[in-house]
Amino acid sequence: MTAPKPSPSHDRPPLSNLHPVHQHLPRRPSWLCRVCAATWPCPSARMLLRVEYGTNRVALSIYMASQLFDATADLLRLNPVPAPDPRELFDRFLAWTARSPT
Ligand SMILES: [Zn+2]
Repeated sequence: MTAPKPSPSHDRPPLSNLHPVHQHLPRRPSWLCRVCAATWPCPSARMLLRVEYGTNRVALSIYMASQLFDATADLLRLNPVPAPDPRELFDRFLAWTARSPT
């Protein structure tokens, strides 16, 4: 028995097969989008990640949970007072992965 892969791409991070102007990846430690400068995941990143993961929403939520973990550490270091709101970060990184696309 093998564990399911957390990413459909196996060996490369999500969105990395896209041209750089379309990658909408986070700039660390600010976690703003490298392309559009919105808070990451920006609307384009969410759309692209949904496309990349397709119906595998469990894998998408696992990937985004790891991003939430890294972002929380970075943002806490950048802004210890007031600390980032955990509910806001949860909504931003994870809550949308459980919703059906509209
Ligand atoms: Zn973006």
